[in-house]
Amino acid sequence: MHTSCQERFCSPLLLTLLTLLARYGELLLRGGARCLVFLGAVLFAPATLASTASQWFHVGTPALLLSLLILLLAIGGGLLSVLLHHLDVGSFRRLHHQLTVMPIAVAIVRKKDGHLVYGNKACRQLLGVRKLNERYLYPDGLSSKMLCDFLRPFAGLKTFKDVDEALPQNNGKVIPLVVSGLSIRCQWQSCWLLFMDPPRASHGEQVKLEKEQRIFQQVLNSLSELVYFQDKSGKLIGTNKAFDRFWRGRIEEGIAGEQDIGSLGNSAAHTWTTAPDGSSRLMETNCNLLIGDTGEAIGTLSISHDVTDWHEMQEVLKSEIEKREVTEQELAQRNTLLDTILSASRDPIALYNEHGVYVGCNEPFARSLGYTQQALLGKSSADVLDPDKLELFRQTDQQVIQQGISVKLDDYVILEDGTPIWYEVLKSPYRDPTDDTTGVLMMARDVTERKMAEQQLADAIMELQELSFVDSLTKVANRRSFDEQLRKMWYSHIREQHPLTLILCDIDYFKAFNDNYGHQQGDLALREVAKVLRSVVKRETDEVARYGGEEFAFLLPNTDLEGGQVVAAEIHRALADKGLTHRYSDIASTLTVSLGVATLIPKPSQDYGKLVELADVALYRAKAAGRNCTMTMSERKAG
Ligand code: GH3
Ligand code: MG
Ligand code: MG
Repeated sequence: MHTSCQERFCSPLLLTLLTLLARYGELLLRGGARCLVFLGAVLFAPATLASTASQWFHVGTPALLLSLLILLLAIGGGLLSVLLHHLDVGSFRRLHHQLTVMPIAVAIVRKKDGHLVYGNKACRQLLGVRKLNERYLYPDGLSSKMLCDFLRPFAGLKTFKDVDEALPQNNGKVIPLVVSGLSIRCQWQSCWLLFMDPPRASHGEQVKLEKEQRIFQQVLNSLSELVYFQDKSGKLIGTNKAFDRFWRGRIEEGIAGEQDIGSLGNSAAHTWTTAPDGSSRLMETNCNLLIGDTGEAIGTLSISHDVTDWHEMQEVLKSEIEKREVTEQELAQRNTLLDTILSASRDPIALYNEHGVYVGCNEPFARSLGYTQQALLGKSSADVLDPDKLELFRQTDQQVIQQGISVKLDDYVILEDGTPIWYEVLKSPYRDPTDDTTGVLMMARDVTERKMAEQQLADAIMELQELSFVDSLTKVANRRSFDEQLRKMWYSHIREQHPLTLILCDIDYFKAFNDNYGHQQGDLALREVAKVLRSVVKRETDEVARYGGEEFAFLLPNTDLEGGQVVAAEIHRALADKGLTHRYSDIASTLTVSLGVATLIPKPSQDYGKLVELADVALYRAKAAGRNCTMTMSERKAG
């Protein structure tokens, strides 16, 4: 009865459990084990108690058997669970080890949330995954959710293969991938075992890529700069022709040594080296980091220029600048010196360029032109000089600048307050070393005192000259002057063969005038007669002179006898018109004169005394004829 009961009860139950175990595998086993442990814990105690109670209180056997079965199941389930766990961990470890050494990127991603359970080294490089202890962390651009979304289209599949898909990142970039997936269970979770590869170029793309690479190499080769690439370990991976030509046989010298990429990146260096032709050259090398798609430094690009010429130019420029600085210092010193001289000098000094623009001056100079120093600088001489003076100054300036000589001249200036000043001006050429322009240095000296003295002397000389040629009483030419003039005229008339006329004029009965009116009145009368005689002379070249005592002489160049007679008649008329009273004359009540006119065309063989002689004869004849009349004499006839 007990046996049949147990068989009836146990067989279907065990069968069911085993079927479940077979069908649901580890999960059910593990779950069953957990369930049994729980059931064991919950039911075993009351069953044991029931069994004990059945022994003690003779309870029925079925209850005891049930309790034992449950106990056995619980123990068995627990043991199985532990065994399966160990099997699972062991298989995962083996898988882990195998996947880790695989060259292709492999990841295990939990289906339900995209959690990265595992990523091998190639996967970490491809996706930028980081490993922290036993955990795998997505890079900043990726997240579990993004992987989850990426794999969602394959949710219903057990496997998928070589799907060309771009994995989007939250920074806007994408990671192009070729992905194959296998749905697996890992750590009791449903996961994707993913195999990932960067997409390979198609044949067409490969050809295009190679073409691009060739063009790129040609472009590099066309550059005169030396170009080379290094990988991140510093190994040379590419160069252009200019590089090869320059560094042939000594490549190591031309590249940065094998060193850490961090020290290679984005730097510039200058190095002296020897060119293939043996010349010493300065190379400037700029090194730039090359960054891969994943943001990781993958190498460097270095470009070297020959900067020797630039360097030499810089050196020349530097020395030029130094020289210029020295020159500027010297100029500044000279300027200071010049300013000191200008301000210390009381004589006017100025510098102006070839266009007449004042570039330097002192106050006395500016004042002489009616300006202040500041107001005058920058102005042109055309703005400040009156036209006559400007013309004179320009002529001398041209001499100074073009011939490079110094020129002296006198300048008369009337200051604003009316003071007249004479300047002795010295103009000298100068050349401005800063801009190589030419101009005039003008220095003036106040010579007013000397000029005044000279003027006074000249006046005195003039006076003396007048005294020696003018009759002091009558202010007509004196006898000396007359003789001189007669001599000159005589010889010029010999050359020209023109008639020369001389009139001798003698006041009638003047002794009686003097005797009766007194000597002083006689002098006054002589002056009055002289005035009348001067008024008769019209031509510039005619001259009247006091010949002696109360006798006057007229010298009339280029005048024939008739002309002389006309002048004689005019003398009589003018004197009569004047009417100078002479009550003691035997022939008239006023002063009268007797005139002797003589005309000659002088011959070289003759002396000018001949003309005087003839005039004298004529005058004698006029006296003899009764006075107050004219008698003439010439070589041909006399009348
Ligand atoms: P005649 O008509 O013949 O010329 O008679 P006359 O008196 O003029 O001639 P005479 O030669 O005899 O006299 C000239 C006089 O003129 C003499 C002198 O008294 C006078 N006389 C000459 N020179 C001067 C002079 O400078 N001043 C003055 N006041 N009288 C003078
Ligand atoms: Mg006389
Ligand atoms: Mg007389």
